[in-house]
Amino acid sequence: MSPLPFDPTSQPFSRVDWTGTRAAGLARLEAFLPAAGTAYTRTRNSDLGPDDRSNVSALSPWLARRLITEEEVVSRVMASHGFVKAEKFIQEVYWRSYWKGWLEMRPQVLARFNQDRLALNQLVGEDHELAQRLSRAKTGETGIACFDTWVRELTTLGWLHNHARMWFASIWIFTLELPWQLGADFFFKHLLDADVASNTLSWRWVAGLHTKGKHYVARASNIETHTSARFNPVGQLSESALPLNEPFLEMGPGTLPTGEILFEERVGLLLHGDDLHPESLPLTAKVMGAGLLRLPEIGPAAGAKNKFLRRAEEDACTRLEHAFNVDAPLLSSLEDALNWALGLGMREIATPYAPVGPIAWHLADLKRALAVHSVRLVRLRRPWDSRTWPLATGGFFKLKEKLPNLVRDLGHL
Ligand SMILES: Cc1cc2nc3c(=O)[nH]c(=O)nc-3n(C[C@H](O)[C@H](O)[C@H](O)COP(=O)(O)OP(=O)(O)OC[C@H]3O[C@@H](n4cnc5c(N)ncnc54)[C@H](O)[C@@H]3O)c2cc1C
Repeated sequence: MSPLPFDPTSQPFSRVDWTGTRAAGLARLEAFLPAAGTAYTRTRNSDLGPDDRSNVSALSPWLARRLITEEEVVSRVMASHGFVKAEKFIQEVYWRSYWKGWLEMRPQVLARFNQDRLALNQLVGEDHELAQRLSRAKTGETGIACFDTWVRELTTLGWLHNHARMWFASIWIFTLELPWQLGADFFFKHLLDADVASNTLSWRWVAGLHTKGKHYVARASNIETHTSARFNPVGQLSESALPLNEPFLEMGPGTLPTGEILFEERVGLLLHGDDLHPESLPLTAKVMGAGLLRLPEIGPAAGAKNKFLRRAEEDACTRLEHAFNVDAPLLSSLEDALNWALGLGMREIATPYAPVGPIAWHLADLKRALAVHSVRLVRLRRPWDSRTWPLATGGFFKLKEKLPNLVRDLGHL
């Protein structure tokens, strides 16, 4: 294992304050900043355990909800380290955008995942043996100490190190021989950073379905090396399993839906959990009223994930009120959102563009319902997304090649 550049236990930011506010995200970014350069490149692959997150940013929960934006993070890191020293970290931030763009151009992959997930959940109701194996995995009773520990971390804290996620998914698929779709579903219900594209496509990648025939195999020796020997599941893992196959699925890419523009000078603004930083939206009109669409919980209502999300939504409402000097109610259903929008008397409601997934589907329903009343729901895509998503037609390499240009466009090179 590569040596750590510092004594992690002496770092004040070893433990993460997982509070769902923009202020907590910004504080984490500032604390992590000194470690985002060469130290990150050298040490990021080690999972040092939940008490020591000094070698990674742990910013994903705030980035996934856009409590802080990718642009802010890259800009701060560029200002501190410059491109050469921070390239690895910056690349990782762009992986999030790559996955989003990739899925946006291939929504059929998500549709297939959802069909499979529902069918498999039904099967679990009928197949007692599968139900038992699944239950042992989800309650951390497999007897594989590292896996059982990560289950507890996931279901209590709602966060796992990237390498632990890879090992976890690999063990789930190839050692426990459970359907990957149910593993992705389990992650999505518990992760503070639950993100449709990063999660679904990373599980597919581990299974060998993203890059055909290339799967990720968790090895005991690798786990031992990168967990500071906290775990060594020697003899417990299936290390020679073959990649998964699936029935034919058109992999596109299809066309990217176009971003929309506002025509009116006065609009309503509707936020949602995919983008909680209204202050930096590309708005060209005065906001006359605002609201936040709060959708039903996915995952345990009282779990860490939904606690984080609810706090994040309240935080966003408070900032909405300050930024635009309007009341910003929480709207708990599409019907509430429709009534709120019609009550404003505006001809246009602006909303951040939601990438393919549950929020986008709800917004599509709302758009149709508003259209009946001649009100346009205008989905505003951020320049960051418009620049990165079209680069996700193939592998990550195409986007990676363009990184210097992308960063230069942000005004940093
Ligand atoms: C099976 C599996 C499921 C995953 N599910 C999710 C998910 O639901 N939500 C999610 O945000 N990430 C997911 N990831 C990606 C990655 O594990 C997390 O983004 C990362 O662990 C977050 O830790 P960090 O903030 O310390 O990242 P850092 O290493 O500090 O990287 C900085 C930022 O870059 C982005 N990033 C880093 N690695 C990745 C990656 N591999 N893919 C996409 N973005 C990345 C994140 O926004 C992260 O905050 C998954 C990975 C795997 C293998």
